[in-house]
Amino acid sequence: MNPYRIISNPPVNSITYLGYRITERCNQSCPFCFSREKDIAFDQPISEIKLCLENIQRARISTIGIMGGEPLVRHDLINILKLIKKFGFETILSTNALLLTDNLLHQLKHLVDYLSISLDADNQPLNDHYRGIGQFTAATRIITTYNPQIHPFKLKVNTIVHQQNFHNGIDQIPRFFLGKPIVWKLLQYTPRLDGFKVRDQFQITTKAFKLKSQQLQKKYPSTIIAQRTYSINEKYDLLLLRPNGDLQINHHDQYQVVGNAYQDEISHVIESVWHQQTSYYHENWDEFERSYRQLN
Ligand code: SF4
Repeated sequence: MNPYRIISNPPVNSITYLGYRITERCNQSCPFCFSREKDIAFDQPISEIKLCLENIQRARISTIGIMGGEPLVRHDLINILKLIKKFGFETILSTNALLLTDNLLHQLKHLVDYLSISLDADNQPLNDHYRGIGQFTAATRIITTYNPQIHPFKLKVNTIVHQQNFHNGIDQIPRFFLGKPIVWKLLQYTPRLDGFKVRDQFQITTKAFKLKSQQLQKKYPSTIIAQRTYSINEKYDLLLLRPNGDLQINHHDQYQVVGNAYQDEISHVIESVWHQQTSYYHENWDEFERSYRQLN
């Protein structure tokens, strides 16, 4: 039974962003992965995605983060993006870039507003040790050739900061994009789901993470650095939609189902959840906004 109270008349200013896991399959197996859940192997057909998008639109959400797993493993990705754009949503596509060919990049041109590429180290051996063989080359190829005049979307480089790359491994990452209007987003390692099992190898304190971010900002004053902290006490964060329609929020080292997009009005779910708890999202709105928008 859904423990959240359903309230009518959703507020005007509500959650505006939803993370849509269009697949939970992935072509990599990063040891610290917190976004991959292995129990849903199927992908929604486009007809069902359309139903969910209608629900998302009724909830007045304006931005959809397209994520996985790895979204590019879906062969119908372009059709999905076309549909999302037809609804008028702003789109953020997160990828490890391994399947991002020039042809696909060209097709993404008018379908994504923000492209997020993972890069966890400034050198190939360390990065690929965690991200898999070839990921460093794939990511840096996109980042170094990115030209905002040619690519009409904004680029974000996502780096998960953990024990292993903290002291020696991320400091030189900006060499791939210095001088370009790229946001470098640092994400504190999150011990959630399978990622929790390896926390002893990867976790760092929020204090250390923030200090490191400050040091890097000082070192690269012209680079826009956005931070995403993790705190075990943080209760509710972003709203996620899984391929089975489940709507989830993070809750400590797990995710918690708060509704289902096939059965519930997302606007009601949002209100019932965020009515009861102050969310990280609301408390840290500026930080969140900065993490993907501040590129001008
Ligand atoms: S590429 Fe992303 S989704 Fe895939 S295993 Fe690595 S962290 Fe998880």
